[in-house]
Amino acid sequence: MALMEESTTQGLLQAHDEFWHLSLSYIKSIALTAALGLGIPDAIHHHGGGATLPEILAKTELHPCKLRALRRLMRVLTVTGTFSVVQQPPAGDDDSTVADASDEAVYRLTATSRFLVSDEVSSATLAPYMRLVLLPIIFSPVGEHICAWFRQEHHEPSVFALEFGQQAATVWEEGADANAILNEGLAAQSRFLVPDMLRECGEAVFRGIDSLVDVGGGHGGAATAIAAAFPHVKCSVLDLPHVVAGAPSDSNVQLVAGDMFQSIPPATAVFLKNVLHDWGDDECVKILKSCMQAISPRDAGGKVIVMDVVLGLGHDDKSNIKRLETQVMFDLFVMMGNNGVERDEQEWKKIFIDAGFKDYKIIPIAGTHSVIEVYP
Ligand code: SAH
Repeated sequence: MALMEESTTQGLLQAHDEFWHLSLSYIKSIALTAALGLGIPDAIHHHGGGATLPEILAKTELHPCKLRALRRLMRVLTVTGTFSVVQQPPAGDDDSTVADASDEAVYRLTATSRFLVSDEVSSATLAPYMRLVLLPIIFSPVGEHICAWFRQEHHEPSVFALEFGQQAATVWEEGADANAILNEGLAAQSRFLVPDMLRECGEAVFRGIDSLVDVGGGHGGAATAIAAAFPHVKCSVLDLPHVVAGAPSDSNVQLVAGDMFQSIPPATAVFLKNVLHDWGDDECVKILKSCMQAISPRDAGGKVIVMDVVLGLGHDDKSNIKRLETQVMFDLFVMMGNNGVERDEQEWKKIFIDAGFKDYKIIPIAGTHSVIEVYP
Protein backbone atom coordinates (compact mmCIF):
# COMPACT_ATOMS: atom_id res chain seq x y z
CA MET A 1 0.00 0.00 0.00
CA ALA A 2 2.84 2.37 0.88
CA LEU A 3 4.31 1.63 -2.52
CA MET A 4 0.95 2.44 -4.16
CA GLU A 5 0.69 5.75 -2.33
CA GLU A 6 4.18 6.80 -3.33
CA SER A 7 3.57 6.21 -7.02
CA THR A 8 1.46 8.34 -9.31
CA THR A 9 -1.49 6.73 -11.11
CA GLN A 10 0.38 7.25 -14.35
CA GLY A 11 3.42 5.47 -12.95
CA LEU A 12 1.30 2.53 -11.79
CA LEU A 13 -0.36 2.23 -15.18
CA GLN A 14 3.03 2.25 -16.86
CA ALA A 15 4.17 -0.48 -14.48
CA HIS A 16 1.03 -2.49 -15.34
CA ASP A 17 1.67 -2.07 -19.08
CA GLU A 18 5.33 -2.96 -18.59
CA PHE A 19 4.67 -6.26 -16.84
CA TRP A 20 1.87 -7.18 -19.25
CA HIS A 21 4.27 -6.47 -22.11
CA LEU A 22 7.03 -8.51 -20.48
CA SER A 23 4.76 -11.45 -19.77
CA LEU A 24 3.61 -11.52 -23.42
CA SER A 25 7.14 -11.37 -24.82
CA TYR A 26 7.08 -15.09 -25.58
CA ILE A 27 4.45 -14.29 -28.25
CA LYS A 28 7.24 -12.59 -30.24
CA SER A 29 9.14 -15.89 -30.26
CA ILE A 30 6.01 -17.83 -31.21
CA ALA A 31 5.33 -15.39 -34.06
CA LEU A 32 8.91 -15.84 -35.26
CA THR A 33 8.52 -19.62 -35.04
CA ALA A 34 5.37 -19.41 -37.17
CA ALA A 35 7.10 -17.13 -39.72
CA LEU A 36 9.99 -19.53 -40.11
CA GLY A 37 7.83 -22.67 -40.03
CA LEU A 38 5.47 -21.31 -42.69
CA GLY A 39 8.37 -20.04 -44.81
CA ILE A 40 7.23 -16.39 -44.83
CA PRO A 41 10.73 -14.84 -45.25
CA ASP A 42 11.34 -17.16 -48.23
CA ALA A 43 7.91 -16.35 -49.68
CA ILE A 44 8.61 -12.58 -49.58
CA HIS A 45 12.15 -13.09 -50.91
CA HIS A 46 10.94 -15.20 -53.84
CA HIS A 47 8.34 -12.56 -54.61
CA GLY A 48 10.99 -10.02 -55.42
CA GLY A 49 11.55 -8.88 -51.84
CA GLY A 50 8.04 -7.47 -51.37
CA ALA A 51 4.64 -9.21 -51.23
CA THR A 52 1.05 -8.43 -50.30
CA LEU A 53 -0.86 -10.62 -47.85
CA PRO A 54 -2.72 -12.53 -50.60
CA GLU A 55 0.63 -13.14 -52.29
CA ILE A 56 2.23 -14.42 -49.08
CA LEU A 57 -0.86 -16.58 -48.49
CA ALA A 58 -0.52 -18.08 -51.97
CA LYS A 59 3.25 -18.61 -51.74
CA THR A 60 2.98 -20.32 -48.35
CA GLU A 61 0.02 -22.35 -49.66
CA LEU A 62 -2.29 -21.41 -46.81
CA HIS A 63 -6.06 -21.64 -47.17
CA PRO A 64 -7.78 -18.28 -47.94
CA CYS A 65 -9.70 -18.56 -44.65
CA LYS A 66 -6.39 -17.85 -42.90
CA LEU A 67 -5.96 -14.39 -44.51
CA ARG A 68 -7.12 -12.50 -41.43
CA ALA A 69 -5.02 -14.66 -39.10
CA LEU A 70 -2.01 -14.14 -41.36
CA ARG A 71 -2.61 -10.37 -41.28
CA ARG A 72 -2.58 -10.54 -37.47
CA LEU A 73 0.60 -12.62 -37.42
CA MET A 74 2.26 -10.16 -39.85
CA ARG A 75 1.11 -7.27 -37.66
CA VAL A 76 3.01 -8.67 -34.68
CA LEU A 77 6.03 -9.30 -36.90
CA THR A 78 5.99 -5.77 -38.38
CA VAL A 79 5.26 -3.92 -35.15
CA THR A 80 8.15 -5.78 -33.53
CA GLY A 81 10.50 -5.12 -36.47
CA THR A 82 10.90 -8.45 -38.30
CA PHE A 83 9.25 -7.16 -41.49
CA SER A 84 8.31 -3.70 -42.72
CA VAL A 85 5.04 -2.80 -44.40
CA VAL A 86 4.08 0.00 -46.78
CA GLN A 87 0.73 0.91 -48.25
CA GLN A 88 0.25 0.66 -52.02
CA PRO A 89 -0.02 3.30 -53.34
CA PRO A 90 1.99 5.10 -50.61
CA ALA A 91 -0.35 6.96 -48.28
CA GLY A 92 2.23 9.68 -47.62
CA ASP A 93 2.45 8.42 -44.05
CA ASP A 94 6.00 8.09 -42.84
CA ASP A 95 5.15 5.52 -40.16
CA SER A 96 5.86 2.40 -42.16
CA THR A 97 6.46 0.13 -39.17
CA VAL A 98 2.77 -0.11 -38.23
CA ALA A 99 0.90 -2.86 -40.09
CA ASP A 100 -2.12 -1.75 -42.08
CA ALA A 101 -5.21 -3.92 -42.34
CA SER A 102 -5.40 -3.40 -46.11
CA ASP A 103 -4.54 -6.36 -48.30
CA GLU A 104 -2.86 -3.92 -50.70
CA ALA A 105 -0.05 -3.30 -48.22
CA VAL A 106 3.33 -4.67 -49.29
CA TYR A 107 5.44 -6.52 -46.73
CA ARG A 108 9.20 -6.40 -47.15
CA LEU A 109 12.16 -8.04 -45.57
CA THR A 110 14.12 -5.84 -43.17
CA ALA A 111 17.85 -6.08 -42.54
CA THR A 112 16.92 -8.48 -39.74
CA SER A 113 14.59 -10.76 -41.66
CA ARG A 114 16.92 -10.93 -44.69
CA PHE A 115 18.96 -13.23 -42.45
CA LEU A 116 15.93 -15.55 -42.18
CA VAL A 117 15.74 -16.36 -45.89
CA SER A 118 16.72 -20.01 -45.93
CA ASP A 119 18.42 -20.20 -49.30
CA GLU A 120 20.29 -16.90 -49.04
CA VAL A 121 23.59 -17.36 -50.87
CA SER A 122 26.55 -18.84 -49.00
CA SER A 123 26.74 -18.18 -45.29
CA ALA A 124 24.38 -15.21 -45.22
CA THR A 125 21.39 -17.08 -43.83
CA LEU A 126 20.86 -17.22 -40.09
CA ALA A 127 17.67 -19.30 -40.43
CA PRO A 128 19.34 -22.48 -39.08
CA TYR A 129 20.69 -20.50 -36.13
CA MET A 130 17.29 -18.98 -35.49
CA ARG A 131 15.76 -22.46 -35.49
CA LEU A 132 18.34 -23.46 -32.89
CA VAL A 133 17.53 -20.46 -30.71
CA LEU A 134 13.80 -21.14 -31.06
CA LEU A 135 14.29 -24.83 -30.33
CA PRO A 136 12.48 -24.81 -26.97
CA ILE A 137 9.42 -23.34 -28.71
CA ILE A 138 9.75 -25.43 -31.87
CA PHE A 139 9.83 -28.58 -29.77
CA SER A 140 7.04 -27.41 -27.52
CA PRO A 141 3.51 -28.28 -28.64
CA VAL A 142 2.84 -24.58 -29.37
CA GLY A 143 5.62 -24.41 -31.96
CA GLU A 144 4.35 -27.51 -33.69
CA HIS A 145 0.70 -26.60 -33.52
CA ILE A 146 0.77 -22.97 -34.58
CA CYS A 147 2.06 -23.97 -38.04
CA ALA A 148 -0.41 -26.88 -38.22
CA TRP A 149 -3.22 -24.46 -37.30
CA PHE A 150 -2.24 -22.02 -40.06
CA ARG A 151 -2.14 -24.91 -42.55
CA GLN A 152 -5.58 -26.32 -41.71
CA GLU A 153 -8.43 -25.06 -43.88
CA HIS A 154 -10.66 -24.01 -40.99
CA HIS A 155 -10.34 -22.13 -37.70
CA GLU A 156 -11.50 -24.85 -35.34
CA PRO A 157 -9.87 -26.35 -33.42
CA SER A 158 -7.80 -23.39 -32.17
CA VAL A 159 -4.02 -23.68 -31.65
CA PHE A 160 -4.71 -24.30 -27.97
CA ALA A 161 -7.24 -27.02 -28.77
CA LEU A 162 -4.83 -28.72 -31.17
CA GLU A 163 -2.45 -28.89 -28.25
CA PHE A 164 -4.75 -29.73 -25.36
CA GLY A 165 -7.78 -31.22 -27.10
CA GLN A 166 -10.16 -28.40 -26.14
CA GLN A 167 -10.47 -24.61 -26.29
CA ALA A 168 -8.70 -22.54 -23.65
CA ALA A 169 -12.14 -21.26 -22.57
CA THR A 170 -13.34 -24.84 -21.95
CA VAL A 171 -10.28 -25.61 -19.84
CA TRP A 172 -10.94 -22.42 -17.86
CA GLU A 173 -14.61 -23.33 -17.52
CA GLU A 174 -14.38 -26.99 -16.66
CA GLY A 175 -11.26 -27.24 -14.53
CA ALA A 176 -12.02 -26.06 -11.01
CA ASP A 177 -8.41 -24.96 -10.40
CA ALA A 178 -8.06 -23.30 -13.79
CA ASN A 179 -11.40 -21.55 -13.28
CA ALA A 180 -10.28 -20.17 -9.92
CA ILE A 181 -7.02 -18.89 -11.46
CA LEU A 182 -8.97 -17.22 -14.30
CA ASN A 183 -11.57 -15.56 -12.08
CA GLU A 184 -9.11 -14.40 -9.44
CA GLY A 185 -6.69 -13.15 -12.10
CA LEU A 186 -9.34 -11.16 -13.93
CA ALA A 187 -10.81 -9.79 -10.70
CA ALA A 188 -7.32 -8.57 -9.75
CA GLN A 189 -6.99 -6.83 -13.11
CA SER A 190 -10.44 -5.23 -12.72
CA ARG A 191 -9.58 -4.01 -9.21
CA PHE A 192 -6.59 -2.27 -10.77
CA LEU A 193 -7.99 -0.96 -14.06
CA VAL A 194 -11.64 -0.15 -13.33
CA PRO A 195 -11.15 2.52 -10.60
CA ASP A 196 -8.71 4.26 -12.91
CA MET A 197 -11.18 4.12 -15.79
CA LEU A 198 -13.86 5.54 -13.45
CA ARG A 199 -11.61 8.44 -12.47
CA GLU A 200 -10.93 9.22 -16.12
CA CYS A 201 -14.37 8.97 -17.69
CA GLY A 202 -16.79 7.60 -15.05
CA GLU A 203 -18.88 10.79 -14.78
CA ALA A 204 -19.41 11.00 -18.52
CA VAL A 205 -20.12 7.31 -19.01
CA PHE A 206 -22.17 6.29 -15.94
CA ARG A 207 -24.00 9.53 -15.12
CA GLY A 208 -27.70 9.16 -15.93
CA ILE A 209 -27.72 5.38 -15.72
CA ASP A 210 -30.14 3.83 -13.21
CA SER A 211 -29.15 0.22 -13.63
CA LEU A 212 -26.30 -1.72 -15.20
CA VAL A 213 -25.61 -5.39 -15.95
CA ASP A 214 -21.97 -6.41 -16.18
CA VAL A 215 -22.31 -9.21 -18.72
CA GLY A 216 -19.60 -11.87 -18.38
CA GLY A 217 -18.66 -9.97 -15.24
CA GLY A 218 -16.90 -12.90 -13.56
CA HIS A 219 -16.79 -12.50 -9.81
CA GLY A 220 -18.05 -8.91 -9.91
CA GLY A 221 -14.75 -7.00 -9.57
CA ALA A 222 -15.74 -4.33 -12.07
CA ALA A 223 -19.41 -4.08 -11.00
CA THR A 224 -18.37 -3.67 -7.34
CA ALA A 225 -16.03 -0.79 -8.25
CA ILE A 226 -18.75 0.88 -10.37
CA ALA A 227 -21.35 0.49 -7.60
CA ALA A 228 -18.95 2.00 -5.06
CA ALA A 229 -18.22 5.02 -7.27
CA PHE A 230 -21.86 5.51 -8.38
CA PRO A 231 -24.10 4.29 -5.52
CA HIS A 232 -27.28 5.34 -7.38
CA VAL A 233 -26.55 2.79 -10.13
CA LYS A 234 -28.12 -0.61 -9.38
CA CYS A 235 -25.41 -3.02 -10.52
CA SER A 236 -25.70 -6.72 -11.26
CA VAL A 237 -23.45 -9.33 -12.84
CA LEU A 238 -24.46 -11.99 -15.36
CA ASP A 239 -22.12 -14.95 -15.77
CA LEU A 240 -22.22 -18.70 -16.29
CA PRO A 241 -23.66 -20.74 -13.37
CA HIS A 242 -20.34 -22.30 -12.31
CA VAL A 243 -18.64 -18.87 -12.24
CA VAL A 244 -21.45 -17.30 -10.19
CA ALA A 245 -21.40 -20.31 -7.83
CA GLY A 246 -17.70 -19.68 -7.07
CA ALA A 247 -18.04 -15.91 -6.51
CA PRO A 248 -17.22 -14.54 -3.03
CA SER A 249 -20.36 -14.19 -0.94
CA ASP A 250 -19.45 -10.71 0.37
CA SER A 251 -20.15 -9.12 -3.02
CA ASN A 252 -22.52 -6.13 -2.78
CA VAL A 253 -23.80 -6.58 -6.32
CA GLN A 254 -26.46 -9.00 -7.44
CA LEU A 255 -25.04 -12.08 -9.19
CA VAL A 256 -27.22 -13.69 -11.84
CA ALA A 257 -26.45 -17.10 -13.39
CA GLY A 258 -27.29 -17.32 -17.08
CA ASP A 259 -26.16 -17.36 -20.68
CA MET A 260 -25.57 -14.07 -22.49
CA PHE A 261 -26.41 -15.72 -25.82
CA GLN A 262 -29.89 -16.59 -24.53
CA SER A 263 -30.99 -13.64 -22.45
CA ILE A 264 -29.61 -10.68 -20.50
CA PRO A 265 -31.58 -9.14 -17.59
CA PRO A 266 -33.08 -5.74 -18.51
CA ALA A 267 -31.13 -2.65 -17.42
CA THR A 268 -30.45 0.89 -18.60
CA ALA A 269 -27.01 -0.17 -19.83
CA VAL A 270 -24.84 -3.23 -20.31
CA PHE A 271 -21.14 -3.30 -19.43
CA LEU A 272 -18.84 -5.72 -21.30
CA LYS A 273 -15.22 -5.83 -20.17
CA ASN A 274 -12.79 -8.24 -21.82
CA VAL A 275 -15.70 -10.34 -23.09
CA LEU A 276 -16.09 -9.61 -26.81
CA HIS A 277 -12.38 -10.21 -27.47
CA ASP A 278 -12.98 -13.89 -26.60
CA TRP A 279 -15.37 -14.35 -29.52
CA GLY A 280 -15.37 -14.29 -33.32
CA ASP A 281 -17.43 -11.70 -35.19
CA ASP A 282 -20.57 -13.85 -35.59
CA GLU A 283 -20.76 -14.65 -31.87
CA CYS A 284 -20.10 -10.98 -30.99
CA VAL A 285 -23.02 -9.93 -33.16
CA LYS A 286 -25.23 -12.45 -31.32
CA ILE A 287 -24.08 -11.17 -27.89
CA LEU A 288 -24.61 -7.56 -28.97
CA LYS A 289 -28.11 -8.38 -30.25
CA SER A 290 -28.88 -9.88 -26.82
CA CYS A 291 -27.61 -6.63 -25.27
CA MET A 292 -29.87 -4.62 -27.58
CA GLN A 293 -32.89 -6.56 -26.24
CA ALA A 294 -31.84 -5.82 -22.63
CA ILE A 295 -31.02 -2.09 -22.69
CA SER A 296 -33.24 1.01 -22.53
CA PRO A 297 -33.82 3.20 -25.59
CA ARG A 298 -31.09 5.75 -26.32
CA ASP A 299 -33.13 8.74 -25.08
CA ALA A 300 -33.49 6.97 -21.71
CA GLY A 301 -29.72 6.53 -21.38
CA GLY A 302 -29.59 3.11 -23.05
CA LYS A 303 -26.17 2.02 -24.28
CA VAL A 304 -23.64 -0.77 -24.24
CA ILE A 305 -20.35 0.14 -22.56
CA VAL A 306 -17.44 -1.91 -23.86
CA MET A 307 -14.09 -1.86 -22.06
CA ASP A 308 -11.57 -3.64 -24.23
CA VAL A 309 -8.54 -3.01 -26.42
CA VAL A 310 -8.99 -0.85 -29.52
CA LEU A 311 -5.88 -1.73 -31.47
CA GLY A 312 -3.65 1.26 -32.04
CA LEU A 313 -5.40 3.44 -29.44
CA GLY A 314 -4.44 4.62 -25.98
CA HIS A 315 -4.67 8.33 -25.32
CA ASP A 316 -1.68 9.32 -23.27
CA ASP A 317 1.07 8.53 -25.76
CA LYS A 318 -0.01 7.41 -29.21
CA SER A 319 3.53 6.69 -30.27
CA ASN A 320 3.97 4.24 -27.39
CA ILE A 321 5.40 1.35 -29.38
CA LYS A 322 5.41 -0.96 -26.37
CA ARG A 323 1.68 -0.50 -25.96
CA LEU A 324 1.08 -1.34 -29.59
CA GLU A 325 3.34 -4.37 -29.27
CA THR A 326 1.40 -5.50 -26.20
CA GLN A 327 -1.93 -5.03 -27.99
CA VAL A 328 -0.96 -6.98 -31.10
CA MET A 329 0.77 -9.73 -29.10
CA PHE A 330 -2.33 -10.05 -26.95
CA ASP A 331 -4.34 -10.33 -30.18
CA LEU A 332 -2.30 -13.39 -31.18
CA PHE A 333 -2.65 -14.71 -27.62
CA VAL A 334 -6.47 -14.60 -27.80
CA MET A 335 -6.40 -16.00 -31.33
CA MET A 336 -4.36 -18.99 -30.18
CA GLY A 337 -6.50 -19.65 -27.12
CA ASN A 338 -10.08 -19.34 -28.33
CA ASN A 339 -10.00 -17.90 -31.85
CA GLY A 340 -10.73 -14.58 -30.12
CA VAL A 341 -9.89 -11.18 -31.68
CA GLU A 342 -8.52 -7.85 -30.43
CA ARG A 343 -10.14 -5.39 -32.86
CA ASP A 344 -9.17 -2.09 -34.44
CA GLU A 345 -11.80 0.63 -34.80
CA GLN A 346 -13.05 -0.58 -38.21
CA GLU A 347 -13.46 -4.14 -36.91
CA TRP A 348 -15.37 -2.89 -33.87
CA LYS A 349 -17.57 -0.68 -36.06
CA LYS A 350 -18.47 -3.63 -38.29
CA ILE A 351 -19.79 -5.81 -35.45
CA PHE A 352 -21.70 -2.87 -33.90
CA ILE A 353 -23.40 -2.07 -37.20
CA ASP A 354 -24.06 -5.75 -37.97
CA ALA A 355 -25.79 -6.08 -34.58
CA GLY A 356 -28.08 -3.15 -35.44
CA PHE A 357 -26.47 -0.38 -33.33
CA LYS A 358 -26.63 3.15 -34.75
CA ASP A 359 -23.53 4.83 -33.47
CA TYR A 360 -20.57 4.55 -31.11
CA LYS A 361 -17.98 6.69 -29.35
CA ILE A 362 -14.48 5.60 -28.39
CA ILE A 363 -12.99 7.09 -25.24
CA PRO A 364 -9.27 6.24 -25.07
CA ILE A 365 -8.13 5.91 -21.47
CA ALA A 366 -4.68 5.63 -20.00
CA GLY A 367 -3.02 2.29 -20.56
CA THR A 368 -3.84 -0.42 -23.04
CA HIS A 369 -7.66 -0.42 -22.92
CA SER A 370 -10.33 1.93 -24.26
CA VAL A 371 -13.99 2.48 -23.39
CA ILE A 372 -16.50 2.35 -26.24
CA GLU A 373 -20.06 3.60 -25.78
CA VAL A 374 -22.34 1.88 -28.29
CA TYR A 375 -25.76 3.46 -28.87
CA PRO A 376 -28.98 1.71 -30.00
N1 SAH B 1 -15.56 -9.14 -17.41
C1 SAH B 1 -14.61 -9.88 -16.60
C2 SAH B 1 -14.37 -11.32 -17.08
C3 SAH B 1 -13.92 -11.44 -18.52
S1 SAH B 1 -13.55 -13.13 -19.01
C4 SAH B 1 -13.31 -9.12 -16.50
O1 SAH B 1 -13.00 -8.28 -17.33
O2 SAH B 1 -12.56 -9.39 -15.57
C5 SAH B 1 -15.01 -13.57 -19.89
C6 SAH B 1 -16.17 -13.89 -18.99
O3 SAH B 1 -17.27 -14.24 -19.81
C7 SAH B 1 -15.91 -15.07 -18.05
O4 SAH B 1 -16.22 -14.73 -16.73
C8 SAH B 1 -16.85 -16.14 -18.60
O5 SAH B 1 -17.32 -17.04 -17.61
C9 SAH B 1 -17.97 -15.29 -19.16
N2 SAH B 1 -18.82 -16.00 -20.12
C10 SAH B 1 -18.43 -16.85 -21.10
N3 SAH B 1 -19.49 -17.33 -21.77
C11 SAH B 1 -20.59 -16.76 -21.20
C12 SAH B 1 -21.99 -16.86 -21.46
N4 SAH B 1 -22.45 -17.63 -22.45
N5 SAH B 1 -22.83 -16.13 -20.69
C13 SAH B 1 -22.37 -15.34 -19.70
N6 SAH B 1 -21.04 -15.21 -19.40
C14 SAH B 1 -20.17 -15.92 -20.15
